[in-house]
Amino acid sequence: MPGRNFLFIPGPSNVPERIMNAMHVSQEDMRATDFPEFTLPLFEDLKKVFKTETGRVFVFPASGTGGWEAAISNTLSPGDKVLMSGFGHFSNLWIDMCQRHGLDVQALDVEWGKGVPAEQYAEILKADKNHEIKGVFATQNETATGVASDIKAVRKALDDANHPALLYVDGVSSIASMDFRMDEWGVDLAVSGSQKGFMLPTGLGIVAASQKALDKMSSAKLPRTFFSFEDMMKVNDNGFFPYTPPTTLLRGLRESLNMLFEEGLDNVFARHKRMGTAVRKAVEAWGLQLVAQGPEWYSDTVTAIYVPEGNDGNEMARHAYRHYNLSLSVSVGKIAGQAFRIGHLGDMNELMLLTPITGAEMAMKDMGYDIELGSGVAAAQEYLRSTKKQIKN
Ligand SMILES: *Cc1c(COP(=O)(O)O)cnc(C)c1O
Repeated sequence: MPGRNFLFIPGPSNVPERIMNAMHVSQEDMRATDFPEFTLPLFEDLKKVFKTETGRVFVFPASGTGGWEAAISNTLSPGDKVLMSGFGHFSNLWIDMCQRHGLDVQALDVEWGKGVPAEQYAEILKADKNHEIKGVFATQNETATGVASDIKAVRKALDDANHPALLYVDGVSSIASMDFRMDEWGVDLAVSGSQKGFMLPTGLGIVAASQKALDKMSSAKLPRTFFSFEDMMKVNDNGFFPYTPPTTLLRGLRESLNMLFEEGLDNVFARHKRMGTAVRKAVEAWGLQLVAQGPEWYSDTVTAIYVPEGNDGNEMARHAYRHYNLSLSVSVGKIAGQAFRIGHLGDMNELMLLTPITGAEMAMKDMGYDIELGSGVAAAQEYLRSTKKQIKN
């Protein structure tokens, strides 16, 4: 097919040319004497993205799922009680992982379209006088529903109950795109991956751990080998890895961090908010409903959109792929077919963003939806024009 594929799924996201070029390098000696000159600043700079000065960051050749496993296996023991909530595909998968690791999981079942139930967490933590709960889990951005949660509120629930449990946050589709403050919010384990906000190919599980989390390693009994923080720390301290690191991806990560810092993290977050708002303007103009059930839950990295009843949003997304070479994201789990998603994270600007809106309009019209061509595009265009940066000529 001539022309390019337009990729608007919430990960893998588009890899900018600068990063692709940075990865176009020969394989290198990971035990070379000057390798630490590359890796040590990389570890330090990663901490800036997580906003931690007191914690440390681990980079595994894995994906976000591996990051989840690293976070739990280094800090918990079989039978430990953990408080979790499920409100979409990813939050439910983390619950499943904890169950399969033999943890005693108290999982709150939350309506899809809402996020972490911080008030309910607060009640449960207050009632847990003997501090049996060892970990509290929160998915900051539920990618399946386009729902963002308030991590600060979860921290407050722990603090108000004076509860010592560790706070685990899945930030796979939010860290490096949406505000995240590990130290300020008292997050103990923060999980991310390379192929979303970091704008890299899949292949890195990136995990940050607080000092409090690291102190749990000696008593935590879940088995870990590949994901052992301890093994990593021993050699990471000198700039090396306990097994072969994916040096190509690390070179790409270096360039990703350069780009994030050049733009400035606050500007990156503001850009994502603007992109997310533009998509929501289009959805409103189409007369369709978001899966997210209110502004407090809006995600700035991915939008899930219900299609009119009686239609199959996934069939529409497949149609867009076949006919227009546009990758919208299908809906999964409980809402499979009822919705479709647009990923708008990472390397993204105004005109890129108009592409999935324009293509979705064409595909929805083709499928017989009552959509006026150009309506969503115009709403997004107006919003993007009226909020553009003032540049002096
Ligand atoms: C993508 C994603 C994951 C899983 O990450 P993989 O890299 O696919 O293993 C976990 N949580 C969230 C919120 C995600 O978006």
